[in-house]
Amino acid sequence: MHGLGEGGSEDAQALVTQQDVSISGTESCVLCVCARCEMPIRERYVNRVMERSFHTECLRCCVCNEQLSSTCFMKEDCLYCKQHFYKLLMFYTLLFLFFFI
Ligand SMILES: [Zn+2]
Ligand SMILES: [Zn+2]
Repeated sequence: MHGLGEGGSEDAQALVTQQDVSISGTESCVLCVCARCEMPIRERYVNRVMERSFHTECLRCCVCNEQLSSTCFMKEDCLYCKQHFYKLLMFYTLLFLFFFI
């Protein structure tokens, strides 16, 4: 099973949940390290995407650098906006067709 087709539910649309870390105390703040820049997150809200944490500033599409809000797309640890995620999917599909047909 590769990430193509219906089987690859891991690389897909991901919901961003904002966690208010100021309520839960300091303990969880220490654990929050941004998955993109690897710096500790000291903001009030930590953006959680697929069990990873991001600074609001780091929640950007890795192609166009557009800031992402409530919905983003993740593939191979990179975040994408909707537009570029579908472009990427198209590219993988074409690549797949090219090699297997
Ligand atoms: Zn960051
Ligand atoms: Zn983009």
